[in-house]
Amino acid sequence: MGHLVAASWPHIAYIGLGSNLADPAAQVMQALTALDKLPQTRLLKRSSLYRSAPVGYLDQPDFINAVAQVETELPPRVLLDALLALELECGRTREFQNAPRTLDLDVLMYDDLVHHEHGLTVPHPQMHLRAFVLQPLLEIAPDCVIPGVGVAAAARTACAGQQLERLEHAAK
Ligand code: AMP
Repeated sequence: MGHLVAASWPHIAYIGLGSNLADPAAQVMQALTALDKLPQTRLLKRSSLYRSAPVGYLDQPDFINAVAQVETELPPRVLLDALLALELECGRTREFQNAPRTLDLDVLMYDDLVHHEHGLTVPHPQMHLRAFVLQPLLEIAPDCVIPGVGVAAAARTACAGQQLERLEHAAK
């Protein structure tokens, strides 16, 4: 039987973070700290915080977003489960799609893996369409190629119309 990825080899994953409730910038900063404390996982880089206008359901506060690069020995599914547990710890509820949330964590990419199973698609299927993911990603990985999609910088150009503001004071 094959395995999705080797279990005990350091992998590079990119995590997308977003929040628009209950002091969103603090939520995202706490989540970045929490990522570094996940088992067999280390935070390597993080972007600045960005402010973005809501997508889909528009009658809600702006979001604060960031992207983190981690080194991890957790397989993708285990990593995602750990992120979902962190979301729950932050009191997230899921009233409806695109609803306001205290914390949203996504596995954006995991090495050069292209994979789909129930509840887990990598790369994240919408990441190449969202300026609030691509801009922070490019800040920490300017030459990034999204597996199965292409050059992240080109995807960013294609969504140039989306409003995004870098919060300078929050940069590391
Ligand atoms: P959302 O709350 O809109 O971010 O959706 C979360 C759901 O998307 C979770 O139940 C996950 O199982 C599923 N999902 C599928 N692929 C991913 C991914 N790459 N990162 C995060 N969640 C994912």
